[in-house]
Amino acid sequence: MSIHTCDAFVVACIDFRFQRFIKKWLEENFQNKTYDYVGFAGSTKDLKTIMNQLDISVRLHHTKQVVLIHHEECGAYGTESTHDRHAKDLNIAKKTILKKYPQFKVDLYYLHLDGKFERI
Ligand SMILES: [Zn+2]
Repeated sequence: MSIHTCDAFVVACIDFRFQRFIKKWLEENFQNKTYDYVGFAGSTKDLKTIMNQLDISVRLHHTKQVVLIHHEECGAYGTESTHDRHAKDLNIAKKTILKKYPQFKVDLYYLHLDGKFERI
C-alpha cells in the first residue's frame, strides 16, 4: 500500500445552500493543499461522530490541521441556531480535538447566509 497523506480535515454541514461558498473558499484557501472533507447535518453537532471521522483521517492520511465550519440558519440546530450557540459548539469541538491531538492547528469559522466566512 502506498503512503498518502493530506494536510487538513474539513467539516461542514450538509446544507446545500452553502456548498458553493465552501467550495470557493477551499479553492482560495487550500489552493496547493489536500484535505479530507466530511459533511454532517449541524457540522460538529454530533461531536462523537466527527471525532471518529477525524481519527480515521489521522490514521489514514496523517492529517494535522482541522477546519470546522458552522453556518447561519442551520436546520440541525433549529431555533437554537444562534451565533453564540455555534461559537460555543465550535470551541467545544476545538477543545476536544486539541485534548486528543495537542499539536494540531484547529480553525473555526461561522459561515453567513451571504457566503461570508467569519473566523471564530
Ligand atoms: Zn446546517
